[in-house]
Amino acid sequence: MQKYWGVLLALTVIASCKDAGSEKKDIAQNLKVIEAPEVNERFGFNLDEFNVKLDTVRYGDSFGELMQDNKVDYPKVLAISENFKDSFDVRKIRVGRPYAILQSKDTTAQAQVFIYENDPINYTVIDLRDSVKVYRDKNKVKFVQREVSGVIESSLSEAILEQGVDYNVTHNLANVYAWTIDFSRLQKNDKFKIIYNEKFINDTVYAGAEPIEAAFFEHNGKPIYAFAYENDSLKSLVDYFDENANNLRRTFLRMPVEYGRLSSRYNLKRRIKYYGYKLRPHKGTDYAAPIGTPIMATADGTVVESTRRGGNGKYVKIRHNGTYSTQYLHMKAQKVKKGEFVRQGDVIGWVGMTGNTGGPHVCYRFWKNGKQVDPLKEELPQAEPLHDSLKEEYFAYISTYKEQLDCIIYPKVLIEEEDEDLLTLNQENGTK
Ligand SMILES: [Zn+2]
Repeated sequence: MQKYWGVLLALTVIASCKDAGSEKKDIAQNLKVIEAPEVNERFGFNLDEFNVKLDTVRYGDSFGELMQDNKVDYPKVLAISENFKDSFDVRKIRVGRPYAILQSKDTTAQAQVFIYENDPINYTVIDLRDSVKVYRDKNKVKFVQREVSGVIESSLSEAILEQGVDYNVTHNLANVYAWTIDFSRLQKNDKFKIIYNEKFINDTVYAGAEPIEAAFFEHNGKPIYAFAYENDSLKSLVDYFDENANNLRRTFLRMPVEYGRLSSRYNLKRRIKYYGYKLRPHKGTDYAAPIGTPIMATADGTVVESTRRGGNGKYVKIRHNGTYSTQYLHMKAQKVKKGEFVRQGDVIGWVGMTGNTGGPHVCYRFWKNGKQVDPLKEELPQAEPLHDSLKEEYFAYISTYKEQLDCIIYPKVLIEEEDEDLLTLNQENGTK
């Protein structure tokens, strides 16, 4: 009897996936039907009513000259620069920022409106008609959910990039699974599925990939789900959890630099030739890396020291909880101050040679209950699990995402098609 349930369940899943697909189609078709007659609207103006000049601020441009070139008289320019300093400081227009000048359509071609784009989203309007008005507004920002899936042939980035997906998505995916999957050992036929949002300004201008909302990775035949969820609303900390609410993150990163060579291990019996083979215990773990390499906090915590002292040189010490603290020595410079809260992976300084050191490296010191221990031999704890009080809500939240992930179909491997092409090509050329 139980056998049949399995079959039945499989059928239901397939059916619901199909439904979801056709529903999407319907929405798309409906959208086409209700498309409104086009008004060439931007910045809150009907652009068809003006001659529109779009440009970017160039080196040497000034607001006054731009205005005078567009037939705005000097007293008006002066009035704007004096009366609207708070909302629009004319001296602060930046080289490379886009602007628009809306000119009257008559022969005078006088500027009616000047629009300065402060950043990709915010812009300032200087309405020069009659009594001058200055105000700020925002472009429309739209998020469009995107699903990406792939089967790894050679590399993860290739599998993602060949689908025209932002490079940052690869980076984000690697971060989500940084503790659970060794990305230097991916296998052919490892598979992934990703759900994330793409950001668009004014419906059409692509403005980047948002963090991953949900993902699935099958590595070596072992599936791992990941769902973004806010574990601590006070600090707005988002972590990734699997379908059983286990945190995918470990408390500590393996090392404080992304690429570094382990140059000296924790060793209480170290003897150094230079010191006549006297016992010189090394209580840190050294990672050699070029000067300027970013040093990361290996876990969330509060900076308790950021200073310079003796042989340690410039260093940072972070208290993670009642048990663990970590310390990072010989920095070129620190990036954090005492009292700051840092997240795991945040850059806290850069590799240098301050203090007693023969070459550029970071000496990583790992404190447990007030004693320095070897982090490479410690069994490191799992990151904070999801609070029990959040679990019910979490399971409800992820159920739709999980269903959506399960319904994503892997792309057909392109190589098969290529081979076919090759085959026909060879046949065609075979007559020579
Ligand atoms: Zn050291």
